[in-house]
Amino acid sequence: MKIREISAKQILVKSNLPASDYVANPYTGCSHQCRYCYASFMKRFSGHSEEWGTFLDVKSYESDRLPKKLRNKTILLSSVTDPYQGCEARFHKSREILELLRNTEADIEILSKSDLMLKDLELLKSIKRLKVGISLCTLDDSFRKLIEPGAPSVKRRLNALKTLHESGISTYLFISPVFPYLTDIPALVQAVDGSVDKIGFENLNLRGTAKTQVLDLIKQHYPQYSAGYEQIYLRKDDSYWKTLETEIQKLSENYQIPFENYFYHEKIRKNGGQKHD
Ligand code: SF4
Repeated sequence: MKIREISAKQILVKSNLPASDYVANPYTGCSHQCRYCYASFMKRFSGHSEEWGTFLDVKSYESDRLPKKLRNKTILLSSVTDPYQGCEARFHKSREILELLRNTEADIEILSKSDLMLKDLELLKSIKRLKVGISLCTLDDSFRKLIEPGAPSVKRRLNALKTLHESGISTYLFISPVFPYLTDIPALVQAVDGSVDKIGFENLNLRGTAKTQVLDLIKQHYPQYSAGYEQIYLRKDDSYWKTLETEIQKLSENYQIPFENYFYHEKIRKNGGQKHD
């Protein structure tokens, strides 16, 4: 991993995501190396020619100043990186930001694929208006290794949700991205029952080089689904998602957990924003 320290103007940046007013991205780049990563376009903006997942910019800020009116605003860590990827153990940038935000009256949301946030459990417990989401799309660790080779295991993510929830922190599972035929939604919902306050869903969106990579990966490792993926991603047939939405709706009636569906999220985003996970 090629690491460099860079200087950035401000900690919070206005967001174009529908559910967040501001985002904080303490790093550029991400060691989780998700094959479908929605944030890899950041290479273009940060002047990196290296492969996504092989570089990391660690941000220091010119000023600690926060926007004046943060009351009831929603702040997301993070939108184009994972705030608790491995390097956070060394640089503590997410922790520093959360310490600054702790005394604001903003709603703070952390979304990560990592259990590394447990190192900051006492800090997280002290933030009143906090919710923490863990993103997970499979219970099969061999599939997880194929698509998210640098991210923590399924077991570690499930344990993180349980620990956070038992500590009194509002938690949610973000089943994202939903991989057609491979993401077992009922099993995931059952696995977190009792550990979360909410479950969100987002379908797999593929574009650019990620599209080719993921379709090749499916062809190589799950040839039985290759025709189905081509139907969805090359011929733009959305009947799979429509059927799945109905199934999710039925499933939600059997659980006491609120479900939030972000299918087609990319169509409602204001200016091209999408959560990284
Ligand atoms: S999808 Fe998120 S966690 Fe995965 S590599 Fe991209 S930024 Fe990192």
